[in-house]
Amino acid sequence: MNKIIRTQNSPTAVYASQELAKYLTKITQNNDFSIHSKAYDESDKENGILLCRLSEIGINIPTIDNKLDDSTYISIKNGRGVIAGSNDRAILIGVYRFLTIIGCRFLRPGEDGEFLIRIPLYEMHAFEEHTASLRHRGICIEGAVSYENLIEVLDWLPKIGANSYFAQFPTSYTFFNQWYSHLKNPYVKPEYYDKEIAAQMTHDAAMHAKKLGLIYHAVGHGWTCGCIGIEGLNWDPEKIKLTPEQESCVAQINGERVLYGDIAVDTNLCYSSEKVQNLLTDYIVKYAKEHPEADYLHLWIADNCNNHCECENCAQMTPSDWYVNILTILDKKLEKENLPVKIVFLLYFELLWPPEKNIHINKDRFTLMFAPFTRTFEQAYCECKDTEYKLPEFVRNNITLPKKTEEYIAHLKAWQKIFDGDSFDYDYYLCKAHYGDPSYYRIASLISRDVKYMKEMGINGIIDCQVIRAAFPNGLPMYVLMQTMWDDTLEFDDIVNDYLSHCYGEDWRQCKKYLSSLAECFDVEYFQVPTKDFLKPEYAQKLSRVEEIVSEFEPVVQANISRYTNKTLALSWDYMQYHLTYCRLFAKFMSAKSVGDDVEANIYWTEFFEFVFKNEPALQRVLDVYYLTHQFEYFMKFRRIIDK
Ligand SMILES: [Zn+2]
Repeated sequence: MNKIIRTQNSPTAVYASQELAKYLTKITQNNDFSIHSKAYDESDKENGILLCRLSEIGINIPTIDNKLDDSTYISIKNGRGVIAGSNDRAILIGVYRFLTIIGCRFLRPGEDGEFLIRIPLYEMHAFEEHTASLRHRGICIEGAVSYENLIEVLDWLPKIGANSYFAQFPTSYTFFNQWYSHLKNPYVKPEYYDKEIAAQMTHDAAMHAKKLGLIYHAVGHGWTCGCIGIEGLNWDPEKIKLTPEQESCVAQINGERVLYGDIAVDTNLCYSSEKVQNLLTDYIVKYAKEHPEADYLHLWIADNCNNHCECENCAQMTPSDWYVNILTILDKKLEKENLPVKIVFLLYFELLWPPEKNIHINKDRFTLMFAPFTRTFEQAYCECKDTEYKLPEFVRNNITLPKKTEEYIAHLKAWQKIFDGDSFDYDYYLCKAHYGDPSYYRIASLISRDVKYMKEMGINGIIDCQVIRAAFPNGLPMYVLMQTMWDDTLEFDDIVNDYLSHCYGEDWRQCKKYLSSLAECFDVEYFQVPTKDFLKPEYAQKLSRVEEIVSEFEPVVQANISRYTNKTLALSWDYMQYHLTYCRLFAKFMSAKSVGDDVEANIYWTEFFEFVFKNEPALQRVLDVYYLTHQFEYFMKFRRIIDK
């Protein structure tokens, strides 16, 4: 029997040893591995593969926080040696790093997204000593999500070097419901779904994330309405008659205290009110007590802007000043209850302007989250020219959201003058923007440039607010994001070559040519921030090349479509075949839209809509058809033509 010996017994450490045994059995095609749990003994490195903590083998890295920062040490010769981590999550990441070094790749979520080699144990050699370049490496849930989709993606995260998962809202009801009710899909009947099921699934997914050792973030949206007794499950407007008590708590705008646009999570409160301050902070403390699984709780306020309270007291200070005031009250209450949970505060809407008076924020408790919601995805942070950009003056209930990267960076810098604690960028690469780039190559390249610039920005990681299903035609953007955050010295082109060669086999260079040529045809900005009446004729010009690129590549797809028995390669080419039609139709409806031909645009849009929904069973795990079509119809006013 070949031994896997572990010194730690947390669920994550146990899982790490089981994962190693599982993959070694597959790779060696030999069922002779056994797992042993015992105290650290140096000689075990000679007896098998030892999984342990860095501190046990005498490696202490003074610059890292062992709980949050992931460091791995791998030393395997002839299938024997040690895989050590700064914490149990890092041991699990170390196991996957070892498998990657010996030649395996985790290209997409799921078993059929893995490329595994076949070698005997004694031929396995690996040596690597590494600390992740950035601390916070993760995703936040968006889109339409089945429970199985979520678990599959969570499992993928540590395999590609990620360490965090953020379940926004008190439960993931809205995201699960968008899937189970099959919104927009004309071909599938809705399934029964309710809030209780959502709460159970949210809890089970959290427990699964904890088993993987992921740093678990929670809530954000929903505190402000929840604390006054109104459930905020999503962004749907709902006519709710406020009680006099609730009315006294919500923000007063133009002399009125009502729910903003009838949307509870979009409504701000009267933050200067002591009653509101206590309701809000007590509500968060209660949640923290009931949810010890949350490592980070996000204290977000309304998900909209220009709706802050105008009452006499609130007008005395900026929203950020009242916000920091509440952070401080919360910190004291958590301290009193001995709750270690970290609190994330955000730079978003009005809170982009730093406070003027309340500038003390406890670095041990709080983490800064930079949320450049309206940024452009055609310019990377490093391409930001004007580094001395002057902040616009803050005017209550009359702010304009930044469009320029320069302006966002200026807000960040202003905050960094008063807070130099931990931080991350909450970005939106695979939320809406990626749908403007069907090549997935253009957005992947931007991601690489952004990640490599994070340290320069004084930011310690990225949590991407994104759809869970974002791997069509491949998982390159997420792969680049997580791999580059793991090691920011990696060059984009090297990751691409390595990824595509494992994903597509022998003809990968032609895939690269296809995707990189397509990348030149797409304009993420046009989709992200449409022009007046959506007119941009020069975009139609760029898109006119798509047909030629697709036609040239089509024979390559045909030659590969039934070529591989390996299920990962076969599936990669399968997705590529769907991608040809996807790009052709995309170019047609976008091109018609950009020259102002709405009738034709809607005819092509309808064709595209039918194509993605009819093929949803084949593409479900990699393409969020609901979210995709919703974005185009909501922001670009495409309309499906229904035959009478
Ligand atoms: Zn007020």
